[in-house]
Amino acid sequence: MRIAIFSTYTYDEAYLSRFNTGHELTFFVLPLNEQTVTLTQGYDAICIFVNDTVNKEVLEVLHKNGVRLVVLRCAGFNNVDVAAAAQLNIPVVRVPAYSPEAVAEHAMALILTLNRKTHKAYNRVREGNFSLEKLIGFNLHERKVAVIGTGNIGKAFCNILRGFGCRIYAYDIYPDPEMAASGVTYGSLEETLADADIVSLHCPLMDSTHQMINAETLQLFKKGAMLINTSRGGLINTVDVIAALKHGQLGYLGLDVYEQEGKLFFQDYSEDVIQDDMILRLISFPNVLITSHQGFFTQEAMEQIATITFRNIDEFASSIELSNQVKVS
Ligand code: NAD
Repeated sequence: MRIAIFSTYTYDEAYLSRFNTGHELTFFVLPLNEQTVTLTQGYDAICIFVNDTVNKEVLEVLHKNGVRLVVLRCAGFNNVDVAAAAQLNIPVVRVPAYSPEAVAEHAMALILTLNRKTHKAYNRVREGNFSLEKLIGFNLHERKVAVIGTGNIGKAFCNILRGFGCRIYAYDIYPDPEMAASGVTYGSLEETLADADIVSLHCPLMDSTHQMINAETLQLFKKGAMLINTSRGGLINTVDVIAALKHGQLGYLGLDVYEQEGKLFFQDYSEDVIQDDMILRLISFPNVLITSHQGFFTQEAMEQIATITFRNIDEFASSIELSNQVKVS
């Protein structure tokens, strides 16, 4: 099949080329959106990532151009209008799980860095400053951690927390009996957030979860708690989170995702004037740590993404049942 692959960097090209099962691949650096969809003329499938836009308008052009399959090389599919794709008879496939440990470990990396301030210590020591002033952290042992969403990544994260001796509380619309049996305490969102020292988000972005962390829910947090989001930026109302940081209701914030990340993440703007005032405000806090959607970015995850992506394409090419098709809810 002829496949147009959008939002690609050197690492995408390297892994997708290595695991290609015989398809004709064209790599575009550009993201797929209303402006770039014209590039899809003559392709059988498109392969996209987290910040590409596949709305109704884009899908109609894809359909006109003869594209027959939308291939997500990620788990989340909030950027695709799945219902509109179904109406046009264009199946959408994704990589539902690829090394959930990669994202879970990154969530823990954010926690450890924010807590023990290793990023500041690194810079201090390089400048000959061996002072410990203001570097104090807290033990994770015995701390209450609230895990919102205990799917693949949430579970992997709970396993890591167990190793640190944390008290694990979770909220999920479908609590997992095995996790409950292993010592995770499920409760309502309110019960789970109450008194938690750390809150980590691992649920998908949907209408029901959009901005679930807002002025109202932030009031349920323990004062000075840490919030970690490695899931999707839209889970958080950024304006409300900035206000909570300003008056100390939130003590720490670790983000690997950001609602407006499509205009910034994965690009080098170090010599430009960044126009997004909200991210600049966030960066200015001493207790905020932002990474640019790199939770997935391990060798193991890239290998699994490439392998499953081509398995999905091969299933479609062989007209067999699509094991990873995104169904209209
Ligand atoms: P998953 O589908 O295995 O698990 C999601 C869990 O969230 C499920 O248990 C589900 O029941 C639960 N859930 C759904 N609605 C909920 C709600 N309203 N409140 C609480 N829980 C709810 O997904 P996953 O593989 O664990 O991935 C979770 C999210 O992580 C993805 O949706 C994606 O947005 C994000 N992600 C981020 C990266 C990254 O690089 N930072 C990489 C992969 C995935």
